[in-house]
Amino acid sequence: MPTDALPYADRLDRLRTHVRERGAEVAVLTPGPDVEYLLGHSVASHERLSCLVVPIAGSATLLVPQLERLGWAGTAAEDTVRIDTWLDGQDAYALVAALLPAGTARIAVGDHMPAGHALHLRDAVPGSELSLAGEAVAALRVQKSDAEIEELAAAGAAIDRVQERIGDWLRPGRTEHEIAADIAAAIREEGHQRADFVIVGSGPNGASPHHEASDRVVQAGDVVVIDIGGPHRGGYFSDCTRTYQVAGEPDPEFAAVYDVVQRAQQAGVDAAVVGAPCESVDAAARQVIVDAGYGEYFITRTGHGIGLEVHEEPYMVAGNPRPLAPGMAFSVEPGIYLPGRFGIRIEDIVVATENGPRRVNNCTRDLTVV
Ligand code: ZN
Ligand code: ZN
Ligand code: ZN
Repeated sequence: MPTDALPYADRLDRLRTHVRERGAEVAVLTPGPDVEYLLGHSVASHERLSCLVVPIAGSATLLVPQLERLGWAGTAAEDTVRIDTWLDGQDAYALVAALLPAGTARIAVGDHMPAGHALHLRDAVPGSELSLAGEAVAALRVQKSDAEIEELAAAGAAIDRVQERIGDWLRPGRTEHEIAADIAAAIREEGHQRADFVIVGSGPNGASPHHEASDRVVQAGDVVVIDIGGPHRGGYFSDCTRTYQVAGEPDPEFAAVYDVVQRAQQAGVDAAVVGAPCESVDAAARQVIVDAGYGEYFITRTGHGIGLEVHEEPYMVAGNPRPLAPGMAFSVEPGIYLPGRFGIRIEDIVVATENGPRRVNNCTRDLTVV
């Protein structure tokens, strides 16, 4: 990691500010992307409690089961917070209560903390009131630093290289499962920790936006949606969709609908300027599809934020007035889904910058027959 890559103490300080602004006295977060963001590392502990305790005034402590302690050895967490351990048979909730400054009652818990942990913690702190810490953490995570944007760009370039090789695997006579297995291996070869999702939606299966893969055999002439991604080696996600035709001359109707989606996607990207509300990105893409007469077949929002999670704030959706700020990263992925026939989606990850929208996916968006 570069030497400027130890932002964790600063992130904890900024978290304290956001927690205080929302009226809580401490944030308690269990392992997952929030902890990974704040400490640069996270280790799941299943039913046993692990948590990061961040009082708005006072030092932060990570409490983990003794058997998970080695999983944190050598990580930035050791330089950033105190790490306490507990043993099976001890009351971990009482240990958290003992870490809180005297009189602490308003506890903000992570949105993904299991309810069992949250309620046991409430019971262990007399008079406590729980709220959600999600907004406070999202306020930090939603605007990426330059280092985070470079991680997203590396992930995007890696997944682009997989899309560029799709013709190696996407061929008539092969099942979606066979094609997906080859793509998953390529995603890992391109420096991802794992392939988190591999959507191969051929023919009518492409009309279901979250179809994954099936035993359907791909036919010559099929339209196929390929939506792939996962966490790249730095932990930041890739997510890129292209839609291909398999063999033959482009079907005229496919080509016409493809053109609509391509123009909609461009309009969405063009609208992603700093200061514009998130909903305007959705509206810009949607208008192109509505004008072409396919509005009822665009059945999703236009995009989602992306970072250490594949779906996170901010969402490009009607009713979201949040203004785009520099460093926000999100997908622009309009689609047209024709039931029983085919689907078309084109998706890039875009970063809002002072110099305009920056795509991190740059493989061709032009209609491609493989
Ligand atoms: Zn999705
Ligand atoms: Zn996406
Ligand atoms: Zn996707």
